[in-house]
Amino acid sequence: MIVVGAPGAGKGTLAKRLAGERGLPHIATGDILREAIRQGTPVGLQARRFVESGGLVPDEVVIGLIEERFSRPDTVRGWILDGFPRTVPQAEALDRLLARLNQPVDAVLLLECPEEALLERITGRRSCPACGTPYHVKNQKPRREGVCDRDGTPLVQREDDTEAKVRLRLEKYRRETAAVIPFYERKGLVRRVDAAGAPDAVYRAAAAVLPPP
Ligand code: AMP
Repeated sequence: MIVVGAPGAGKGTLAKRLAGERGLPHIATGDILREAIRQGTPVGLQARRFVESGGLVPDEVVIGLIEERFSRPDTVRGWILDGFPRTVPQAEALDRLLARLNQPVDAVLLLECPEEALLERITGRRSCPACGTPYHVKNQKPRREGVCDRDGTPLVQREDDTEAKVRLRLEKYRRETAAVIPFYERKGLVRRVDAAGAPDAVYRAAAAVLPPP
């Protein structure tokens, strides 16, 4: 299954929940890239300036990461892709990879959310750098402002979650990523989900259009 949507549409939240429930790996290229940057690996060094500026990492780099990820045995029973493919060449490369592995795509979930809501969701997003718990300055406040409820660590904002960078990411989405929707529509795989509501409502809307586990 592939989860597609603009930044802030809630891909990560939904994909993690579906993956947990179905016992499938959640494969998010953004998470893989941030971890590579944190560790200072060669891929991390190559990707850093693109990720931190809100641009897209070159196709060959992310395609390489995906090929490597799909060589691990936990992907044979299925997977939930989040944040990949983000361009038509990535979608074509994924098709070739899956043909080689003899694995079909069952569904492409398209999360639809108005742009004003996206901006507010992302610029208010914070997280705990120690345990990863997500927060939001308005919608999901910590008990004490700016620190994690679980371990008291000061919360951080993602480098690319500031307003100027979010605008660039939305622009990239419209100009490059949106083209993968007709690509999968032609294959009859796209399921549209109203993603303007709270996480539970988005989950229920998604569950209603998905093939059963
Ligand atoms: P995300 O966590 O999905 O919002 O991704 C964060 C950032 O990682 C994006 O803004 C891009 O810079 C980079 N990135 C993640 N996935 C891809 C991809 N499939 N293609 C190109 N860049 C990506």
